[in-house]
Amino acid sequence: MHSSALYEQFAERGLRRTPQRLAVWRAFAEKPGRTIRQVAGDLAEEGIGQATVYRAVRALEGAGLLLGYASPRGEVRYVAVLGHAHVLVCRRCGEVTSLQECQIEDYERRLQSKTGYQISGHTLAIYGICPRCLQEEGL
Ligand SMILES: [Zn+2]
Ligand SMILES: [Zn+2]
Repeated sequence: MHSSALYEQFAERGLRRTPQRLAVWRAFAEKPGRTIRQVAGDLAEEGIGQATVYRAVRALEGAGLLLGYASPRGEVRYVAVLGHAHVLVCRRCGEVTSLQECQIEDYERRLQSKTGYQISGHTLAIYGICPRCLQEEGL
């Protein structure tokens, strides 16, 4: 899945590309919105230990390749990011919707010229209550 684009992102961010990090990123890309513990459970079968998964998530999140967001139950869930990602999260049921539309590129350009940063991407989680939950609760 997007291998060359993904490899470029690792290189651009100066992040060493290890099989474990790739496996963790792909696990979240395949099923977005899972917790570290769920992914660690799956990857244990591939011989990747839980501590390794936690370290990989920290590295990937720091490099902007994973986006963590708070689920209604207070646990942190993640989606894989390639360049940029935006998700809409329901605070009641935890449903996650990926948003394709990007309104931030202009802002990035302005920020780049203002701060002198070379900006390489962004992640954004927007929280609210989904229409189904609104209806169920008569809100
Ligand atoms: Zn909902
Ligand atoms: Zn964007």
